[in-house]
Amino acid sequence: MKYISTRDYRGDSGMISSAQAVKRGLAADGGLYLPCEIPKLADSELARLGKMSYADRAAYIMSLFFDDYDRDALLSDCRAVYSVERFAPAKNRMSTDVAPVYKLDENTYALELWHGPTSAFKDMALQIMPRLLTRALQMTGEARTAHILVATSGDTGKAALEGFANVRGTKITVFYPADGVSRMQRLQMTTTLGGNVSVVAVRGNFDDVQSGVKRIFGDSTLSDRADENGFFFTGANSVNWGRLAPQVVYYVSAYLDLASAGEISFGDKINVCVPTGNFGDILAAYIAREMGVPISRLICASNSNRVLADFLETGVYDKNREFHKTISPSMDILVSSNLERLLSMCGGSELTARLMDELNRNGRYTAPDSVMTKLRAVFSGYYATETETRDSIRTVFEKYGYLTDPHTAVGMSCAEKYRLETGDDTPLLLVSTASPYKFAPAVCDALDISAPDTTDLRALLDRLSAYTNTEIPSPLIAPLSLPVRFSEVTDPARMSEFIFRA
Ligand SMILES: *Cc1c(COP(=O)(O)O)cnc(C)c1O
Repeated sequence: MKYISTRDYRGDSGMISSAQAVKRGLAADGGLYLPCEIPKLADSELARLGKMSYADRAAYIMSLFFDDYDRDALLSDCRAVYSVERFAPAKNRMSTDVAPVYKLDENTYALELWHGPTSAFKDMALQIMPRLLTRALQMTGEARTAHILVATSGDTGKAALEGFANVRGTKITVFYPADGVSRMQRLQMTTTLGGNVSVVAVRGNFDDVQSGVKRIFGDSTLSDRADENGFFFTGANSVNWGRLAPQVVYYVSAYLDLASAGEISFGDKINVCVPTGNFGDILAAYIAREMGVPISRLICASNSNRVLADFLETGVYDKNREFHKTISPSMDILVSSNLERLLSMCGGSELTARLMDELNRNGRYTAPDSVMTKLRAVFSGYYATETETRDSIRTVFEKYGYLTDPHTAVGMSCAEKYRLETGDDTPLLLVSTASPYKFAPAVCDALDISAPDTTDLRALLDRLSAYTNTEIPSPLIAPLSLPVRFSEVTDPARMSEFIFRA
């Protein structure tokens, strides 16, 4: 399987192996890597996967995309990572394994992706990605250290730190928006352990941080200097194919679990609703659909930063708008990088290169009607306001006794709007992206419960736990008592100063 940049319509950068795509992250022309074709899963293969564990499903599906990797190595990596030690088994779920499905009602299911080491869905990919990368370094004969630069809207940062901590041949620097993450997210990152890790707060929003990191990647003076120092820069954001492919797995897996539990018949269509920011998670769902998983519609759920909902409605992508800080901070994004992959898949690389150039110059572009028709045949865009998000947390808890975090609540609110508007009662899989305990102040507020002292995070967690009769995930307890190791704050223009320190 060869990979090519989303913008490479002249064949300039050529086709590369999956190991090289994982090693590079971003293509030299600024594009993102895509496999030249999407492998198909035959019904008989799906049936066979249905009997396997999550780890074995993951190894099988990933080996289709990483066919230059040794199959046994992939399998042992997947079994090591997608294990009960790292993904705590959940009670009262349809399946207990790694990415369990929780039944809300006769045709609504939540796919819980937050049972990993940092309690957000980013673990699903960032636990395996360091292994994909270190193998890629070996396979390409790379002697230099890979310096992973991460821009995070909150959850990627900690998941990447946890994945890469003390991994040989790598070091990692995480940049996060100083005022753009939840208190728990900040604590998780600033107390993180490991000898090869660094965390820096940046004054600005996620888009400022993401463009800062993209600027570093594009600066040849910096990459030359890195080379002289024996390392090179690469990324762990969802622009890296090594992040995307592992995310395809849980959509296949959830479908198989629904079928195995008899909730659907094999071959029945389902709809999938994904709380969306950088468009990585929902793109993985699209790829699962392209592989042949019977998915009908994809509901793209945004918060009040509704750039994607507007794009799907009007065909105009316009980031020139007010940036809203919301209670679902991991979706506070105006430049959804992975949309580029969808544009390339549906409109080709020449169009993608042109539109991305327009986006860089003017902050907006208009997609042709022919492409929008294709997108709208699969995607429906909705958004939830802050009030609707809070209402959703409360009503879902009242109705089902089920606690959702604000991101998942955005998804639920959008899924309900979709159903109301279309009358479509196809079974719906709602992707649940984070533990509610990562956002306890907002969740307590939505439920109208308060702790005596709202500055005491532990007290809030305890109050939430007592009120909802749910458990605080253990990975969220440790950061409360660990010392803060990283407290530096910088400006977007000065981020590069932090990447050449020992
Ligand atoms: C990252 C994140 C999202 C958005 O996912 P994308 O792949 O960026 O679209 C949604 N919810 C949570 C909790 C996240 O951490």
